[in-house]
Amino acid sequence: MLDAQTIEATPAAMHFITLFVLFFGACIGSYLNVCIYRIPREESTVRPRSHCPGCGQLIAWYDNIPLLSWIVLRAKCRHCGGRISPRYILVEALVAILFLLVWIQYGLSPKTPVYWLMMGGLVLGTFVDLEHMIIPDRVSLGGLAAGLLLSPLIPSLHGKSAWLDALIASAIGAALGGGLLYGVGVLGKMAFKKDAMGLGDVKLLAGLGAFLGWQAVLFIVMVSSFIGAFVGMGFIVAKKHEWQSRIPYGPYIALAAMIWILWGPQVWHWYSALLSGGAPMP
Ligand SMILES: [Zn+2]
Repeated sequence: MLDAQTIEATPAAMHFITLFVLFFGACIGSYLNVCIYRIPREESTVRPRSHCPGCGQLIAWYDNIPLLSWIVLRAKCRHCGGRISPRYILVEALVAILFLLVWIQYGLSPKTPVYWLMMGGLVLGTFVDLEHMIIPDRVSLGGLAAGLLLSPLIPSLHGKSAWLDALIASAIGAALGGGLLYGVGVLGKMAFKKDAMGLGDVKLLAGLGAFLGWQAVLFIVMVSSFIGAFVGMGFIVAKKHEWQSRIPYGPYIALAAMIWILWGPQVWHWYSALLSGGAPMP
């Protein structure tokens, strides 16, 4: 991490890095937009080059600049005037902000690129799930494989120094993540006679456990159900009851995981200190 002195010494350099991280995040967001559209349609995410889904015209590089082009074109295709979904600028801005938050939190740590990768995967999974009610295996199982592979390479992901300890922590996280949600799903099916949990959610949480460990799994299950209940109540209050059933569970898991990546370890330390009586009483 950059220490305070370095930051004070070179504010111009820090502004440049901030802008660069935002721009880098927006570019990744731009690519994720392509993935969000193409992966559920089983198209290649590399070829052919981006084209308008309305008129099929190739999109020129100057119309494909993250954030700016959507605003300059006022959300319309230059050729056919067809509407460009606000999802494009939303995903670009969201990934840019998430990349910056990870950078602010972890700086020059090997965790930073790993958490950038995870943020990208979670945004991809969220937007595909919202539109198609599936989480692509590329995100969930790909995440599981990447988590098991990266954990021994970067043991600090699990707060360990030995690769084997980190691999064990990763495997425990994956097993708890998959097992816990699978159990919830089986119980839910017995209780409500319908699928409470999709297999995609089970695979996603297993993947998150592989990266983040078992504490994160408990946090994510708890926080995602809180957020889900909160949003559900919001829809009931707003009398949009039919919306509630249309929102899949994956985005709540993703949101809880993002909160854990950015602030979870602090919350966990505070909570366990509180439980063991270590925290000062107010
Ligand atoms: Zn067009």
